[in-house]
Amino acid sequence: MYDALIVGASFAGLAVANQLRGRRVLLIDSKPPGEDQTSACGTMLATLEYWNLSGAVLQVHDRIVLHTRRGDFSYPSPYPWCTFDYKRLCETLFERSGAEFLQARVLGYENGKVLTTRGELAAKHLVDASGWRAVLASSVQPSFNENRAMNFGIETAVPLTQEAPTEGLHFWYDRRLVGPGVGWVFPRRGEIGVGVASYRGALPLQEPLDRLMEHFRLSPDTIHGTYFPHTLRSPVAGPVFVVGDAAGMCVGLTGEGIRPALFFGEACGQILGKVLHGELSHSEGLERYAAFVESRRRFFDFFSSAQFVLSRLPPVCIDILAAITRREPIRPWIMNRYWSLTNSWNEAPSPLSEEEFATS
Ligand SMILES: Cc1cc2nc3c(=O)[nH]c(=O)nc-3n(C[C@H](O)[C@H](O)[C@H](O)COP(=O)(O)OP(=O)(O)OC[C@H]3O[C@@H](n4cnc5c(N)ncnc54)[C@H](O)[C@@H]3O)c2cc1C
Repeated sequence: MYDALIVGASFAGLAVANQLRGRRVLLIDSKPPGEDQTSACGTMLATLEYWNLSGAVLQVHDRIVLHTRRGDFSYPSPYPWCTFDYKRLCETLFERSGAEFLQARVLGYENGKVLTTRGELAAKHLVDASGWRAVLASSVQPSFNENRAMNFGIETAVPLTQEAPTEGLHFWYDRRLVGPGVGWVFPRRGEIGVGVASYRGALPLQEPLDRLMEHFRLSPDTIHGTYFPHTLRSPVAGPVFVVGDAAGMCVGLTGEGIRPALFFGEACGQILGKVLHGELSHSEGLERYAAFVESRRRFFDFFSSAQFVLSRLPPVCIDILAAITRREPIRPWIMNRYWSLTNSWNEAPSPLSEEEFATS
């Protein structure tokens, strides 16, 4: 029997698997690790450095630029950001994990077994890292996915041109151009990702994307996209550990889900390691993990509320806010608070006791 079965071989699932090296772990995904990127792949450089994944970095960015109706607001960052190669990152994490991989679609959970298109499977511990669908958690607890709060985004990647920005992570909060959501342009060494997202579920986004592309005299190539949550859900469902987008670990307003998926995936994997080692029972492990996630709930709630408010403010208020938040000492304060979600990465990897979470 497997020590752990993880559904989803993307950021969250691979982060869990990397903490369980030496154990018998099965990763299941409907596609091979690194295939079918859904993300724009922008994150803080420190995230990839912490995970020793600098080889996947495509481009480093020293600023974020907000484009509103009335102007452009540059936010030099106290720490650098980066865009990275999804395939390379996932393949590297997968190789390091030493986990087994099964390409199959997970259909649900019944009588202690995980049902897949390749048969039934059992394991001592189950992790749902299947993204917004939360396929395992919602099978164990049919109410799990009810009232899910979702954003929806699409993106295309095209070769870099002179008209488009070549550095910095650029966001558009200009409703004339991108509608009631956000648009972005992320340079990725030789190409740019251009995308738009709606803060109100799956609104039609093709037109806003076309408008943003036309702004740079570009035309879209292949488009990818999906839902991404903006409200933290429960990190456990019955006996299942739930991580990443499956647990709503994507930050409201900014749509940043990669760093949280890696961060909570690491915590989940470390706790599961303790359970497998006999230091914690399974139910103590679930409790410990849930407490860890809860210790960060205020962070997620703040950004969920910020998204709700900002997406309803008149454009002039967005301009005023952008101008104010750009000033010292507000800008570095906000950016440092934003990093604080993962501030325990500044120290040695934590053994994840509740006291440490409370004080970190
Ligand atoms: C257009 C767009 C752009 C984004 N850009 C950024 C960005 O630049 N930076 C950032 O931080 N965040 C970004 N996000 C959010 C980020 O992509 C997600 O938060 C992140 O991917 C969550 O990681 P995850 O591992 O939890 O889930 P996912 O990356 O969604 O992975 C889930 C995995 O589970 C597999 N799976 C799902 N269902 C099943 C099933 N039934 N059986 C088997 N396998 C299954 C999938 O194939 C997938 O591999 C973006 C989101 C979108 C939609």
